[in-house]
Formats: sequence, structure tokens, C-alpha cells
Amino acid sequence: NSIIKVALIGNPNVGKTSVFNQLTGLNQQVGNYPGITVEKKQGIAKLSSEVKAKIIDLPGTYSLNASSIDENVVIELLLNKNDEDFPDVAVVVTEVENLKRNLLLFTQIKDLEIPTILVINMADRMKLKGIELDIESLEKELKTKIALVSSRKNQGIDNLRNIILNYTELSTEPCLHASSIDPEYFDKLRKAFPNQLLYKLWLVITQDVNFLNLERNEIKSSFTKSHSDLKRLQQKETIKRYQFINDTLKIGQKIDQSKATDIRAKIDRILTHRVFGYLIFFGILMVIFQF
Ligand code: GDP
Ligand code: MG
Repeated sequence: NSIIKVALIGNPNVGKTSVFNQLTGLNQQVGNYPGITVEKKQGIAKLSSEVKAKIIDLPGTYSLNASSIDENVVIELLLNKNDEDFPDVAVVVTEVENLKRNLLLFTQIKDLEIPTILVINMADRMKLKGIELDIESLEKELKTKIALVSSRKNQGIDNLRNIILNYTELSTEPCLHASSIDPEYFDKLRKAFPNQLLYKLWLVITQDVNFLNLERNEIKSSFTKSHSDLKRLQQKETIKRYQFINDTLKIGQKIDQSKATDIRAKIDRILTHRVFGYLIFFGILMVIFQF
């Protein structure tokens, strides 16, 4: 009788809570994280007749570059293997229309080498928006398993349950190494802390979070960089990640607005294409009504 620990992570408004509700049904519990007012939602999902999963719906976060209490909750959990809720598997939820932005967080989680599943939600909107995805290519590029779901229509959730059930088969390989942003600096870090994940060290150096496994002050004092240097490196990290994401989406995503069935998208398209025509048309009307 085992229980798999799952953390649901994602940007705000991607449908994380909707996926959580589909997975857990009425088996939910809402509380607070100790000492802060951030809501802690957890529930139990039944994956098979023997296996259950404990699912935590984490607060929405755009990245692991902590800038809010909500984001700190996510980082502290993912950095702390001793936390009772430390996940066996991270489920990163994204949605079809904002994949590019949503994937930034995904690549950061992958760098922590936690088994990770990518959920692409709101599949029901793909036709509407003329979006096509090559799931197999995306899985290969991102070194992950993908569940394409519509939590609104309860589609793809069984497949997601199945991937969670088989989480030990997931790759823990990062899809991008943060260390490539400054090899020399990261090489020194690696030598000083051979048993620690480099990206974890990087987060400890750059973030103001409580981190229990490592002597933060020791790391910070021997690896200080000026505030502006750190900012520069962080920007470089973000740029590298978006380059990787752009390349990946070029291979695995096609957006053809002429195929969009969304009436609003159609009107938008006609308007932008013919905006000058309309301007001239209304200009003429105004001239006529002047007289
Ligand atoms: P969270 O902020 O990530 O927890 O997102 P929510 O679960 O609160 O959902 C945000 C919005 O997206 C809500 O208005 C949902 O109704 C909508 N939504 C969630 N899942 C789907 C989906 O599969 N399809 C569509 N079309 N909308 C969805
Ligand atoms: Mg939510």
C-alpha cells in the first residue's frame, strides 16, 4: 500500500486547481502553511486499486526566482529533501495558449533533477486558436512525459493518472544546464560542493529562502558576487532558457491563425489585415457627413 507524493506546480491561471479537482474529486483538505497566510491545498487521488497519490496544489508561480511569499513556498519545498511533502514527482501544469511563458518554470524544475511530468491543459482551445502540437517531438526535446488534457472537459486525466503511476520511468535529466551560463564560476561551485546539485546551489546563492540542508552562509560568503553581477547572471539564465524554449516550440508547435475557428480571432485577423482599408472607408464617411 504505497502513496506517491505529487506536487502540482505552475503559473497562475493555467488551470492547476481545475486539474487538482479532477484528480482528487472530493478528497480535499485546505489549510495554511505554518506562520503565513498562504493557502495549502492537498488531496488524495486514486491511481489504481492499490496505489494512491497525495497531491499538493502549490501556489501559482512564474519562476523559481523568488519574489513573493507564494514563490518562496514553492522553492523551499523543492529545495528541501527532508520536507515530509518533498515530491516523488513534480507535475508542471501549462496551457496551450501560453506555452512559451509557462515553460520557463518547467525548465527550472527540470534542472533540479526531480522526476517531472508536463501537463498541457486547455486542449479544448487548440482548434479554436489554430494550435497544433507534436507531442512526441516535445517529449523528446523536453526530456519528459506530456499529458495533453482538458480539465474543463475531463479529457486526458486518466492518461495523467497513468503517467503518475509509472513515475519511476521518468527521466530526471535536466533539459538545460544552468551551469552553462558561467562555466568558470559553476566549476568552482561544483568543486567546493561536489555532492550538491549545481542549480540548487545557484538558487541558494541568489534567493533569500530558508534552506536547511546546506550552510547557506558558508556558500554565500565564499561565493559572493556583487548584486549587479548576480542580476546579470540571472538575466543571462532567463535568456538561455527562452532560447531553448523557442527552439523547442519551433519543432513541436504550429500556430496557424487562418485555421482558427474562434470567431474573435477571425475578426481580429480581418481587422489587422484591413485596418487601413477601414480607416480610409471611415475617413470617406466622415467627409461625406461633413457636407
Ligand atoms: P489556477 O490559477 O492555475 O489554479 O487555475 P484555475 O484552475 O483556477 O483556472 C483558471 C481559469 O481557467 C478558470 O477560469 C478555469 O475555468 C479555466 N480553465 C481551467 N481548465 C480549463 C480547460 O481545460 N479549458 C478551458 N477552456 N478553461 C479552463
Ligand atoms: Mg489555483
